[in-house]
Amino acid sequence: MIERQVVYDIVIVGAGPIGLACGIEAQKRGWNYVIIDKGPLVQSLYNYPLGMTFFSTSDKLEIGDVPFISHNHKPTRSEALEYYRRVAQSWKLNLALYESVEEITGEDGAFSVQTSKSSYTAKKIIIATGFYDIAHRLNIPGEELPKVQHYYREAHPYYGQKLAVIGAMNSAVDAALECWRKGAEVTMIVRKGEIGDRVKYWVKPDIENRIEEGSIKAYFHSEVLEIRDHSIRIQTPEGEKEIENDFVLALTGYEPDYSFLSKLGIQQSEDGLRKPIYDSDTMETNVSGIHLAGVICGGMETNKWFIENSRVHAEVIAKHLENHLTAI
Ligand SMILES: Cc1cc2nc3c(=O)[nH]c(=O)nc-3n(C[C@H](O)[C@H](O)[C@H](O)COP(=O)(O)OP(=O)(O)OC[C@H]3O[C@@H](n4cnc5c(N)ncnc54)[C@H](O)[C@@H]3O)c2cc1C
Repeated sequence: MIERQVVYDIVIVGAGPIGLACGIEAQKRGWNYVIIDKGPLVQSLYNYPLGMTFFSTSDKLEIGDVPFISHNHKPTRSEALEYYRRVAQSWKLNLALYESVEEITGEDGAFSVQTSKSSYTAKKIIIATGFYDIAHRLNIPGEELPKVQHYYREAHPYYGQKLAVIGAMNSAVDAALECWRKGAEVTMIVRKGEIGDRVKYWVKPDIENRIEEGSIKAYFHSEVLEIRDHSIRIQTPEGEKEIENDFVLALTGYEPDYSFLSKLGIQQSEDGLRKPIYDSDTMETNVSGIHLAGVICGGMETNKWFIENSRVHAEVIAKHLENHLTAI
């Protein structure tokens, strides 16, 4: 007997909040879709710091008309994980988790999606792969030592330890403050002359005051040159210094998977921000039939899109596809 492969209307790559929102729009319209993710449901949120609180209020993170009730003004990571699990359950979303999309070939109306476990045929593709997978590397000696982390989870391991935090944006500042409050001896190394101006306005004075009073040490206009087993070497305006060190949190930002985008043929802007090219009325890229949704749209401008303002991408794509899916 010849087995015929299901032809999906849409394959959605990425089960983050925006990939889920795309699945909901497809489901509402009775389309045959699958959401594929290389990790668990909402893997980026799962990888956030354990004690993280969103800067958005819960209503701004809602998708699919499922109410998000939080105990506080702003929800925590664990409330968000519970919320998106509930969304997936109540919409009975068609998910393929722990399955990495490796290659997409073919053309509009007849794509072939190769994953780590299987292959799919789809008429249309939505890429909602975010940017949290790939951390900026320092590219300095010692970066591979086990004491160096590019993602911050929680403060406990750093109690009573000499901790260097590299970076001065939200992730670095949140980690520095939390670890200092839980008993770490924190030193920040900051390439620019001040704490990032995009740091949450209610957190910025806190870190600036801790630095000014000397509770947290900070080297500005400085760069780490090398990480050693028990120290780090820093280039400062006063010359090179070597300070004692037990752990390093290198929190210098994240970027979309450009090799994946390039393999698909999706072009990027040449202004240094490497924004993938797409039509904002349809979210379709320069590759006919392949759409983008969510925070990946900002390229290196990772502060442009959030759940709050990108959840609408799902509806924009679905409205566009209403005319195009039926035409195939
Ligand atoms: C610490 C932090 C706090 C934030 N707080 C807020 C906030 O308060 N409010 C707000 O609106 N936004 C916030 N954001 C920004 C934004 O909400 C998140 O980045 C959000 O996760 C973006 O959703 P997304 O669906 O676009 O992408 P993601 O949630 O990143 O989802 C992408 C998914 O794609 C999967 N994937 C990637 N490549 C592949 C592949 N090849 N094959 C299969 N799967 C793949 C990943 O595993 C991941 O699950 C925050 C971001 C960070 C980092």
